[in-house]
Amino acid sequence: MKVLVIEDSPQIIEAISLCFQLRWSEVSVISSTSGNKGVEMVETESPDMVILDLGLPDIDGLTVLHDIRSFSNVPIIILTVRGDEMDKVKGLELGADDYIVKPFKHDELLARIKAVLRRTTMPQLKDTEDVVISPELKIDFTTPCLYKKGQTVNLTPIESNLLYHLVKNEGKTLIHRYLLERIWGEEYSDATEYLKVYIQRIRNKLEDDPSQPKMITTERGLGYKFIKPTPKMLTRRSS
Ligand code: CA
Repeated sequence: MKVLVIEDSPQIIEAISLCFQLRWSEVSVISSTSGNKGVEMVETESPDMVILDLGLPDIDGLTVLHDIRSFSNVPIIILTVRGDEMDKVKGLELGADDYIVKPFKHDELLARIKAVLRRTTMPQLKDTEDVVISPELKIDFTTPCLYKKGQTVNLTPIESNLLYHLVKNEGKTLIHRYLLERIWGEEYSDATEYLKVYIQRIRNKLEDDPSQPKMITTERGLGYKFIKPTPKMLTRRSS
């Protein structure tokens, strides 16, 4: 496995490399101290995972994240500074898979990386055929992507996994804890902030008006429910 570290501090790169050398020697670490070079290396080196510092000298780490996500679904863990809640949320919104707060311990870094790999390595979904939601909406969980009004919209592994659970349990309320444990792992059972961000990301891709969701509804204080649109809910087309 190859991990790309995009981080301007040589000491932190050194610490991460050492952590892998000692604890997980099958992993090779490559690095870039600049954001632009880092984006380029995702393309040329095809790493299996990216660890991205948000405070970089040339471009903002969130821009780097956005640029990587425009062409790659590689798992990304962002490094944030303690207390910077906004950056964590923005990072997750822009498609980071998890975050680690600096300074961190080796154990914590390895645990996060393993958890991210576990959930981004897609479980083999049985459906090989597209799931038809409505005449204008189909989901292909194997690619994964959805087809909406003739457009193809890509889904990240986590988005697809979360949507899969909701669609498979159509009409049932799935509680926060159930979803968090299934998709993120048991140690995340209370981390509702992840769920919130990912539900919003799916709504943005799926719903006609993400601010008035009709397919993925919030069951306040409980969880979320997937409701198949009825023909009445679909926009009427003039013939
Ligand atoms: Ca930095």
